[in-house]
Amino acid sequence: MSLMNTYGERSTTLVKGEGAYLWDDQGRRYLDALSGIAVCGLGHANPIITEAITAQASTLVHASNLFNLPPQQQLGEKLVALSGMDNAFFGNSGAEANEAAIKIARKFGHDNGIDEPEIIVADNSFHGRTMATLSATGNPKVKKGFSPLVSGFVHTEFNNIDAIKAVATKNTVAVMVEPIQGEGGIRVPADDYLKQLRALCDQNEWLLILDEIQTGAGRTGKFFAYQHSDILPDIVTSAKGLANGVPIGVCLARAKAAGVLQPGNHGSTFGGNPLACAAALATVTTVCENGYLARAQELGEKFLAHFREKLSGNPHVIDIRGMGLLIGIELDRDCGELVDICKEAGLILNVTAGSTIRLLPPLILTDAQADEIINLVVNSINGLLN
Ligand SMILES: *Cc1c(COP(=O)(O)O)cnc(C)c1O
Repeated sequence: MSLMNTYGERSTTLVKGEGAYLWDDQGRRYLDALSGIAVCGLGHANPIITEAITAQASTLVHASNLFNLPPQQQLGEKLVALSGMDNAFFGNSGAEANEAAIKIARKFGHDNGIDEPEIIVADNSFHGRTMATLSATGNPKVKKGFSPLVSGFVHTEFNNIDAIKAVATKNTVAVMVEPIQGEGGIRVPADDYLKQLRALCDQNEWLLILDEIQTGAGRTGKFFAYQHSDILPDIVTSAKGLANGVPIGVCLARAKAAGVLQPGNHGSTFGGNPLACAAALATVTTVCENGYLARAQELGEKFLAHFREKLSGNPHVIDIRGMGLLIGIELDRDCGELVDICKEAGLILNVTAGSTIRLLPPLILTDAQADEIINLVVNSINGLLN
């Protein structure tokens, strides 16, 4: 084998995509309820994005951050306007976006006389696979075998304000959470959680960092999930769905967090290159201006209502939850085999946190495709357990 065995055995070879469908090397077609893990929100080979990538590829792919680059400038302006933040730093992945956020929080501490800054993070969270982001992650499996970990992260219970107060110290500089925990099993916190967190951070002059790498780019029915609450974070990171499959990550910062990084503090060779930014600009514009946010919300309500109705009689279904097109169905046992069962039936989905079926279909889904996903998922669950 020429590839490191980081992904285990992969039995299916995918060669083509179009809209909500993927094809394997045998010519079999699959309905895609995963979107490359919340990446291809506008579907595969979307002509608008293909056109943007092609036009930029024949103009300028890369020139380095030693120069002004119009697509990077335009994307920065667009994301700043959309998010309510003041400025942007571009990297190439979610982990890199979070690395930038973590560096801002630490330097914010140092700038304010805190030499050993601590960031409070949540149990069950996922923030990436680099050393700092895996150290911030609240899943022991992600960290196992990689000590010594990066220090300065304090873990506590998600969706519990008192738990944060209990671990805070004079060295606390920030709280970093996902608005909905994705890899952790589509964990949706209480409606007022972000609002309370915002108030707590304000009282203590901590930065509120939201990891919207999975929830951003319109997936929950607003461009950023925090826009369902009446708050602004100090820092928000996003990546996955931002350029419909072209690698990109962004760290957006506001007010006091926006001025922390100075020349020489941070950088990236590829980050924000014209190709990735042109793809992102087309993606963001299309998601926001073509009714896809309202559509994600509408489809999400349909999925939840149908699953709740059709699975209410199955005693093995513990919970059905989510927001927009980020949907989890938790069973009372590990259910990884459902991935292959559904694949056999022509549907691609994912199971996360062992026992939660995770659906991340594209925002371009039709009602007929949504019905097909609902029927295949319900039949697969009822066929396996009832
Ligand atoms: C996927 C994910 C990351 C890591 O993103 P990469 O692009 O794989 O580095 C970080 N945080 C959250 C919430 C994610 O879902």
